Amino acid sequence: MAGMANPLLTDTPLPPFRSIDAGHAEPAIRQLLDENRRELEWLLASGASGWDGIVVPLERMHHRLSRAWSPIGHLNGVMNSDELRAAYNACLPLLTAYHTELGQNAALCAAYQRVLDVEGARLQPEQRKLVENALRDFRLAGVALPDDRKDRFRAVMERLAVAQSKFDENVLDATLAWSRHIIDPVELEGLPPAVADRARAAAAAASQTGWLFSLDAPNYQAVMTHAVSEPLRRDFYTAWVTRASDVGPHAGQWDNSRLMAEILQLRHEAAQLVGFTNFAEYSLATKMAHESSEVLEFLRRLARVSRPAAQREFDELQACAGRSLSAWDVAFHSERLKRERLQVSEEELRPYFPLPRVLAGLFAVASRLYGIRIVARHDAETYHPDVRFFDILERDGTPRGGFFLDLYTRPKKRGGAWMDECVGRMRLGQATALPIAYLVCNFTPPSGQKPPLLTHYEVLTLFHEFGHGLHHMLTRVDYPSVGGIHGVPWDAVELPSQFMENFAWREEVLPLISAHVDTGEPLPAATLRKLQATRTFQAGMQTVRQLEFGLFDFRLHAEYVPERGARIAEILAEVRDEVAVVRPPEFNRFPHSFQHVFSGGYAAGYYSYKWAEVLSADAFGAFEERGVFDVATARRFLHAILERGGSRDAMEAFVEFRGRKPEIEPLLRQMGLAAQAPTP
Ligand SMILES: [Zn+2]
Repeated sequence: MAGMANPLLTDTPLPPFRSIDAGHAEPAIRQLLDENRRELEWLLASGASGWDGIVVPLERMHHRLSRAWSPIGHLNGVMNSDELRAAYNACLPLLTAYHTELGQNAALCAAYQRVLDVEGARLQPEQRKLVENALRDFRLAGVALPDDRKDRFRAVMERLAVAQSKFDENVLDATLAWSRHIIDPVELEGLPPAVADRARAAAAAASQTGWLFSLDAPNYQAVMTHAVSEPLRRDFYTAWVTRASDVGPHAGQWDNSRLMAEILQLRHEAAQLVGFTNFAEYSLATKMAHESSEVLEFLRRLARVSRPAAQREFDELQACAGRSLSAWDVAFHSERLKRERLQVSEEELRPYFPLPRVLAGLFAVASRLYGIRIVARHDAETYHPDVRFFDILERDGTPRGGFFLDLYTRPKKRGGAWMDECVGRMRLGQATALPIAYLVCNFTPPSGQKPPLLTHYEVLTLFHEFGHGLHHMLTRVDYPSVGGIHGVPWDAVELPSQFMENFAWREEVLPLISAHVDTGEPLPAATLRKLQATRTFQAGMQTVRQLEFGLFDFRLHAEYVPERGARIAEILAEVRDEVAVVRPPEFNRFPHSFQHVFSGGYAAGYYSYKWAEVLSADAFGAFEERGVFDVATARRFLHAILERGGSRDAMEAFVEFRGRKPEIEPLLRQMGLAAQAPTP
């Protein structure tokens, strides 16, 4: 490596993926952290002050660092290897220490305070918001603490980062460790052919006969929804809900139990150190909701509306099945009932949603709404042959941003779907670094000559992540701290993504995104109406499931008391008594793989999905009133919400777009629950 430039330190517009390997990570991060520390020290010693003297250089440091780190974090998620994992884990404590140190730097905090005091009146609103957020974050990082408690806070945050990363590793390892080998084709009954084909190929690759199923999300979903064999469903269910726990096929091997207790304890301690009663209140300091009681009341109000509906739906399901159903029966029998009642099945619709058609339609929708063009770039460096790159252009061809599209499931790739930042928008002298995103899904890869065929649910996933992507890529804010999704409260960050999903249900949009793979026919109107009817099918059961997660997560953090410990199982049981209608078996350990809450950004914030659904359903209501392609409404959404990122208060932005505060009724209507709503 001597004499070779570290590819993570080049400032090419896109990461030079072909040159990056795990060995570059730690040297690059160490070098940038050193440079940033020296520059900061120099700035403060030289008495630099004001927006240009302090804030802009800090934003530039932040930009440079996140640009180098982003490819490492991303590759660790999508091309995991022992080397990358080790490199990622070596960097993580360095970065955490740096951020905590920055957040606790009293001289820097004072310099930001002076920017507000001296230049406050002259600052642009976005600049003012940035400085106010920074001052809030200094407080949350313990800037005002005496030295010994500062040290403790730092130690807690560092340990927390390590524990959360280990939680993720355990989930991944436990998921990879399990597979199911099938010899007798009778066991495959009901499974979609594409899923069985993939399992046959996996078996062949492992020099085995029959079919080999790994425990990835597409396989799990397919088995739970379609497999006629109850033993097969029970096996998959058992493996899935006991991952990384003390029970199940790999009991105790990657058990997250102690990590979960430790993570909750550390969060609680950190929150108390900086003056909050518990971590739930700490979490709300940066959210649109202000009080714990507001969140709990919100979730319980939805529960009052949806639980009776959920109970009716579940009773009806069991009546149709003719017996009481276990947790691993619910999806299968729901699919049967849905098919019987609505005469439509997700799998049968797949031929209408070939991926190229869906993508072209999605891009056409974004283009009509926001006046942009999305164009494939064929010579961009990527990290895997399946990954593609697209430019986003203004109508006149001016570049606006771009994204990597990584859609297929593969070994060593984290499950689920997400959008992540590759490069943030940043003004650099005369030039501007343009925002680049990663859009990641886990669709079944193409088999043979046919393009991948998506379920409508997968179409929604794609629209969802693209919505996040647009929030990042269409930002007009030149400062990374409040551009794109940065600085947006977590409970408002799902607004653009869930908003975007609405389009994939509309009769104006479905002809654009559907074309039968053999005939080219768009989805027939009658099928479309049946598909739309699925949206409210079991809406009560779906809602209480989300409320179960939301209440569990929030109470876990709001009610934590050191003397009583984490009480994970007890709180979950209480929440289920309150809202759930499907009772899982005793061995269910879903919290042990609940990454959103234990390792992701949704701690004491899972309620955000429902909160933002209220916002997105209400925002989309404006389009229902004026037409889904109404340009004036779309441009108002673009200017008030998408382009502004976190540079303004989330409630103000919503009110500017909608002309009033958000209302809950559009969501209830969308879910078919409005008629049952009791008056508040
Ligand atoms: Zn999302």
